[in-house]
Amino acid sequence: MPSRVANHLHRYKKVNLARDGEDYFVYKCQKPTCTHYIPMNLAEGKLCECNKCGEAMIITRAVLTHSSKKPMTRPHCNNCIKRRKNDEVEALANFLNQRTKTEI
Ligand SMILES: [Zn+2]
Ligand SMILES: [Zn+2]
Repeated sequence: MPSRVANHLHRYKKVNLARDGEDYFVYKCQKPTCTHYIPMNLAEGKLCECNKCGEAMIITRAVLTHSSKKPMTRPHCNNCIKRRKNDEVEALANFLNQRTKTEI
């Protein structure tokens, strides 16, 4: 094993390293001792740490197109995406329940 390989999972955040006025988006590791970053177009298939639950996850197409066809700012795993969707569905259901109650 090469000794310079990072001994942690990178926790990525999307940053814009704009050069000469041109956008240049990369995923940069947020850990204090790490200076690693990876260009967005090379990020697919890489392992990283979920920004919500901290579990290992793979950066998939879905991650890179999640926010209206743009990469997520803080990549999070499928479980966390589902959890959020469920929360939203529940919130909507509660909202509708309340409305029907008040209208009756
Ligand atoms: Zn790192
Ligand atoms: Zn997660």
